[in-house]
Amino acid sequence: MRVHANDGISAPAQEALKEQGFTVTVDFVPQEELAAYINTEKVDALLVRSATKVRKDLIDTCPGLKLIARGGVGMDNIDVAYARKKGLRVVNTPASSSISVAELVMAHLFSMTRDLYKANRRMCVEGHDAACFKEMKKSYGKGAELRGKTLGIVGFGRIGKWVARYAIGNGMKVLYYDRSSTVDHIEVQLNGDTVRVGIKMVPMEELLNACDAISLHVPATDDGTPLLGAKEFAQMKKGMLIVNTARGNSLDEEELLKALNSGKVKAAALDVFENEPTPRADLLAHPNVSLSPHIGAATMEAQERIGDELVDILSAWRDEVTVGRG
Ligand code: NAD
Repeated sequence: MRVHANDGISAPAQEALKEQGFTVTVDFVPQEELAAYINTEKVDALLVRSATKVRKDLIDTCPGLKLIARGGVGMDNIDVAYARKKGLRVVNTPASSSISVAELVMAHLFSMTRDLYKANRRMCVEGHDAACFKEMKKSYGKGAELRGKTLGIVGFGRIGKWVARYAIGNGMKVLYYDRSSTVDHIEVQLNGDTVRVGIKMVPMEELLNACDAISLHVPATDDGTPLLGAKEFAQMKKGMLIVNTARGNSLDEEELLKALNSGKVKAAALDVFENEPTPRADLLAHPNVSLSPHIGAATMEAQERIGDELVDILSAWRDEVTVGRG
């Protein structure tokens, strides 16, 4: 069976698939040439991450394609319902990158509370100048600690729960809001022991009002309505920190800019943007925004877990198809 991983796959997973008899290609094929490549090379399974789009036209043009696998969580780059209607198997690896995203959230929270992102931007160009050094030492020497602060988590699924574990491990209090989950505790591993920690869900309005920082962990909204819009920004406690590693349309960027300029939001950390891969320049240039280029899931460990999960998915699928044929 022929597998093409257009956005790459870990080297161990590539080897494992080859050992199991799959023919694997990993060279990136540009979007406009992909359909022809799939047909010419008789690709059975197409593996993608977030870069390659698998839209209706590609699905229609490639009748030989049988499986589409997304290494990672969000499948907004794939026309999932359409593909399934046409009989294709569409799968993802949802749990593989939760820890990586949660660690990036903590990195951004620490960066914002200690103004690290601001210091980093300036130290490399101005740090050698004594007057600038002294001015920066004074400006960025008024940071805060995370311990004792309250983090509000919106969306208490896989990633939300991991963020809670890291935040609790760092001495933060955690509240959450989720439209369907109602868990009242999570299990946290501390130095080899598993500890059961109680956790409270509150209404969104209370969360916006009670927390020092909020972190978004919901899927892309179907109708494009942002979870944090004008109404929600108005309900926020002054001096709030916001982290968005969910999806660009999870918050209204225009309203965020207004809230940053008024001081309602002290700082925001963004890993995802409404207009990826060309986010708006005024947002990127804002002095109170800590930035990363959609790398939440992208760690070496996550890549390996994704690769392992894809190998399991593909071999189980091949066995199923082969038995079906037999
Ligand atoms: P998940 O499905 O495990 O959890 C999502 C939770 O959000 C669910 O509990 C659901 O009930 C809740 N929810 C959905 N809509 C809601 C709403 N409107 N209000 C309140 N709660 C709502 O998903 P996950 O694995 O935790 O991933 C969350 C999101 O993180 C993904 O959908 C994806 O958009 C994003 N993500 C980003 C990166 C990155 O690189 N930055 C990587 C992986 C995932």
